[in-house]
Amino acid sequence: MYISVLMDVEDLVDPEADDLAGICADILWEEGLPATFCVVGEKARLLKARGRAGVIAKMARHDIGYHTNFHSVHPTISEYLAPLSFEEGVQEALRQEQDGIRAIEEVFGMAPSCFGGPGNTWGPAVCEALRQCSVPSFVYAHTEAPGGGPHRFCGLHAFPNGRGLSDGLYQDSLAAAEQLDELKAGIAADAAKGLFWQQAFIGHPTRILHEHFWDDPNFVRGANPPRSEWKVAARKSDADLETALINFRKAARAIHELPGVEIKTIREMNSILNAQAFAPAPPEAMAKLWPTIEARLLAMAGWPIVPEDIDLSGICAQTHQLLSSTCVLQKGSVA
Ligand SMILES: [Zn+2]
Repeated sequence: MYISVLMDVEDLVDPEADDLAGICADILWEEGLPATFCVVGEKARLLKARGRAGVIAKMARHDIGYHTNFHSVHPTISEYLAPLSFEEGVQEALRQEQDGIRAIEEVFGMAPSCFGGPGNTWGPAVCEALRQCSVPSFVYAHTEAPGGGPHRFCGLHAFPNGRGLSDGLYQDSLAAAEQLDELKAGIAADAAKGLFWQQAFIGHPTRILHEHFWDDPNFVRGANPPRSEWKVAARKSDADLETALINFRKAARAIHELPGVEIKTIREMNSILNAQAFAPAPPEAMAKLWPTIEARLLAMAGWPIVPEDIDLSGICAQTHQLLSSTCVLQKGSVA
């Protein structure tokens, strides 16, 4: 079974979070665990503007994905796509996201390997926009194919959301050990079931540094203060941060040592999937999966990054219409 290790790098407020991204990248590198960092376009521009060449280089030893141009700054992806038709949504996503994709390329010297939706916001139009921008895949996918695992949706490789560790627990050694045991047992069970791939999402550098998410004091439920009024989230004590980083390293080491799995970045997984054959998913099987996929889409309204009364019916209808684009991996076959 393949495992991809993922982190999101997105704090636009606290420059100290830049250091944490570099520290996490170093720890993962030292532990032999190549990861995919999903980076916000504005974060890439800020790293460059703040002269953080060292942090950029540490992250660029790993794989880099794209995590939207502005993350939680409104309108977020679901907000700007919700009132639009699919075609209008594609044009709007291109308008909103092209600069961010370009920023990743310029700052990290590589095109993003994937797109990761921020704070659980997504719409299918963004997939078509990504395809037009030559971004080959998306992670944390709400879509699914019969049998689970990576599939094709709307012309992209889709990596479904899956396992991970809560970054809010690293400073609590007991809880951190418990959740790591759970992750190890879960991955062992997935491998025993013959799963092709699973994710290990191991958190956000900013949340390892702070008691809360960086966007909590600023952008919750539609709040959109100007940049001059952005507030920094409460920082952990030095002692808690030190403990959190010790437990983060333990997690990295444990994932590296997992038996029977191969660690691959999303960039490597894209190459692996490019060499596999896919076949259209049977319509009856997709009809059976639809209620699960729809429930995931509707659950986006529960996340603080969007207003509670967001109307997701258009995004649901467009996704339903695109179910026929779903293709299933033909395991063991070669394209
Ligand atoms: Zn995020």
